[in-house]
Amino acid sequence: AKEEGRGRFRFFEQEMDARAQARRALELDLRRAFALRQFEVFYQAQMSLQDRRIVGFEALARWRHPQRGMVSPADFIPVAEEIGLISQIGEWVLLTACREAARWPGSHRIAVNLSPIQFSNPGLVETVSAALATSGLAPERLELEITESVLLDNTAATLAILHRLRTLGVRIAMDDFGTGYSSLGYLRSFPFDKVKIDQSFIRDMPTDGDSAAIVKAIIGLGVSLGISTTAEGVETEEQLNRLRAEGCTDIQGYLLSKPVPAAEVAAVLNRIPT
Ligand code: C2E
Ligand code: CA
Ligand code: CA
Ligand code: CA
Repeated sequence: AKEEGRGRFRFFEQEMDARAQARRALELDLRRAFALRQFEVFYQAQMSLQDRRIVGFEALARWRHPQRGMVSPADFIPVAEEIGLISQIGEWVLLTACREAARWPGSHRIAVNLSPIQFSNPGLVETVSAALATSGLAPERLELEITESVLLDNTAATLAILHRLRTLGVRIAMDDFGTGYSSLGYLRSFPFDKVKIDQSFIRDMPTDGDSAAIVKAIIGLGVSLGISTTAEGVETEEQLNRLRAEGCTDIQGYLLSKPVPAAEVAAVLNRIPT
């Protein structure tokens, strides 16, 4: 039994080694990805429930790895945050999204995700301001999505940055609402333009009464506070109809469109009336 235990430990060690190596390889590839132009921005449509028109798109980072294929941002964003690359990637996504959106027909909004780490970068406001100036995008077309974790520490400094961003004329959305802590207090401390209802609630809404109640409460809160609500991860007409009945402002999800490359945005706009 002792032998067996040692064997298992060796196996465990090798497994850890293999994982650490894969992780180091990923880090190395990520550092080179920029120079090799492997990043892309995809766009996912957002539709108003009032008139079923497309009101904007969310920019979502993609990494086309030559061997691994498309690497999910859920896998590489956390690594980029850990190794200090997220600000560079985030800046590139922001500028690319602003430039591409400035060329779209119409004045749809473009939503860009900001990592909490970008808030500790003293140049964030200048970066956003420069992206607007370089691209020529009207500030009111840009929406910055932040998660509640941004407000967890250093709240005063973060609020100051949010106010400076707002002064540029951009909109601020709270992402993944309902999954973090003390969400309600944050809505009082900063006048968000929008809350995005996390897709886990939307997914469970048809089968789980608690999720349905939370969705209803968030939409009601939005109505009372004058904050628009976007439901994420809408996949069925049933979800759409319930969200519209509850008074949700906009939806985003596979029902409308998956995230598409820039070249396909026009086709999405043609397929869905705008
Ligand atoms: P997120 O900001 O919550 O983005 C929504 C995610 O849900 C996207 O995943 C999108 O493709 C996916 N999604 C949209 N509709 C549906 C649906 O109907 N069903 C399902 N099952 N999923 C749907 P994606 O593109 O893989 O991005 C994952 C996360 O990575 C994002 O979550 C965001 O937190 C992060 N991310 C992506 N791009 C960036 C970026 O440029 N900067 C930063 N900081 N984070 C990013
Ligand atoms: Ca988002
Ligand atoms: Ca989200
Ligand atoms: Ca999410």
